[in-house]
Amino acid sequence: MTARLDHRNPLVFDTHELGRRPGALQRLTRTIDAPKDLGIQDVVGVPEGAPVELELRLESVMEGVLVTGTARAQAEGECVRCLEPLQLDVEAEFQEMFSYPDADDRGRVRAEPGDDAEDDEDRLFLEDGLFDLESVLRDAVVLALPMQPVCQEDCPGLCSECGARLADDPDHQHAAVDIRWAALKGLAGSLGDGENDKVNGAEAGVDEKQEK
Ligand SMILES: [Zn+2]
Ligand SMILES: [Zn+2]
Repeated sequence: MTARLDHRNPLVFDTHELGRRPGALQRLTRTIDAPKDLGIQDVVGVPEGAPVELELRLESVMEGVLVTGTARAQAEGECVRCLEPLQLDVEAEFQEMFSYPDADDRGRVRAEPGDDAEDDEDRLFLEDGLFDLESVLRDAVVLALPMQPVCQEDCPGLCSECGARLADDPDHQHAAVDIRWAALKGLAGSLGDGENDKVNGAEAGVDEKQEK
């Protein structure tokens, strides 16, 4: 078990008011400051300290307290195509059972021993009637965020030639310009040929050096 939960931690909730009578319900809302690393690292996430609105429904059941909820916040990141900063609204839904420590095996059907061991690791428990929502919130927010956020659905990304943001300049292109330059160079080359060859020889040589 980890260290005891601190009821002053805004992500720790108290179920004493709910009581242990199965069927009892409690709804609550709380706005918290986002904890560190709430999101997908280096991609998109809710900045630390930004407001996160939580809406929770606590339901007392035989085994513990079933917590169903929604978290709303604004995430920040950058477009994976054009690298422009972006903001997006996140709405993450979650549902998690926090078991009474003393209800550990009551009414549980033991499956294969392997399954059970794995299961127990993932189980979350109430501690002195408190539960910590942080890991549940984190998992839900990560799931709700896009792995590859884009500033707009059809973001064309960056110009591979110069790095310009193509969404700002849809007609942007280099290919045509390059062809024109190539044509001019070709023309200059052909002018240097022929009867003026000897006169222009030195200049043509300089031009060739400059081109390289
Ligand atoms: Zn973009
Ligand atoms: Zn370009």
